[in-house]
Amino acid sequence: MPYSGLITRYRDYLTHLPNNAIPVTLLEGNTPLIPAPRLSAELGCDVRLKFEGLNPTGSFKDRGMTVAMTAAVAEGATACICASTGNTAASAAAYAARAGLACYVLIPQGKVAAGKLAGAVAYGATVIQVQGSFDDALAMVREISQRRPIALVNSINPHRIEGQKTAAFELVDALGRAPDWLCLPVGNAGNITAYWRGFVEYHLAGKTSALPQLLGVQAEGAAPLVLGHAVEKPETVATAIRIGRPARGKEALQAVAESSGRILAVSDAEILEMQKRLAAEGVWCEPASAAGAAGLFREVKAGRLDVRGKTIVCVITGHGLKDPDAITARFPAPRAIPATMSALERLIAE
Ligand SMILES: *Cc1c(COP(=O)(O)O)cnc(C)c1O
Repeated sequence: MPYSGLITRYRDYLTHLPNNAIPVTLLEGNTPLIPAPRLSAELGCDVRLKFEGLNPTGSFKDRGMTVAMTAAVAEGATACICASTGNTAASAAAYAARAGLACYVLIPQGKVAAGKLAGAVAYGATVIQVQGSFDDALAMVREISQRRPIALVNSINPHRIEGQKTAAFELVDALGRAPDWLCLPVGNAGNITAYWRGFVEYHLAGKTSALPQLLGVQAEGAAPLVLGHAVEKPETVATAIRIGRPARGKEALQAVAESSGRILAVSDAEILEMQKRLAAEGVWCEPASAAGAAGLFREVKAGRLDVRGKTIVCVITGHGLKDPDAITARFPAPRAIPATMSALERLIAE
């Protein structure tokens, strides 16, 4: 059967959806699990990259959005709203367009990567910049969705988590069991919550005897779950996890504890270094997406994590094209030469 989206594939596990719901889908999910031979050799284990940047709008947000938008349409919604650090905005805008719903997205002013903002605009959403943080914007959309008949499609919407858990199903379906460790970035903490739910449900269904240990990784300047308190002014190059009050923080910490996992923070320098390492494997991701692998790398190198012989999955949450400035701002512009063969020969001989 041709692939027809994650709702169709995992319908039996999406019990929250009304029976008569017709999927709003862009054939999201079904993303590749790419071996990372260099990283594997360096760390002495089998590292695989779940490349979620290959979803229709370039991030894993599409998994939750197909389910949230399907539910919203089934419930008769005509408009939706979300707050976003960028990827949720692009995803909501695309799925709202697909469903024929009006879409409002609130983003923190000046803090959203160019490729994400452009996406939301391209799909026809009404984009509103809030002179405040993501957390301020989230508080605003929560309130307006209670006052007006507008569907809230942030990850506090339970359908988002339901859709996102399917990534765990795909991992077990691909590997034949759960990986030993799952490493991923943590911002609002919906994704780590969703993965854990997915693994637990598949475990209960007899699809995997083992459960993974979770390694949740925040950025040092936006690490409320590591610090144990909210961060008023979160700062990091990894804009997708620049969040000071994670909406699902408690659930995330519980998931990490249940899995005998860890939550930790890495520096922006470590994140950017790992972005480069992943690109050297042929997988270019946005900075936030490298955080999980960066955390793994640091712990193994510091001797705090023994992964010899283990199978490790790093979730690569979003595509590098979302945030081209993260590269172009740090590297010199490509060299220019005259359009002559001698100039080209000279440069290559250098
Ligand atoms: C949303 C997002 C995250 C963080 O996921 P949470 O569910 O908020 O923890 C990480 N990386 C990318 C690329 C994202 O879009």
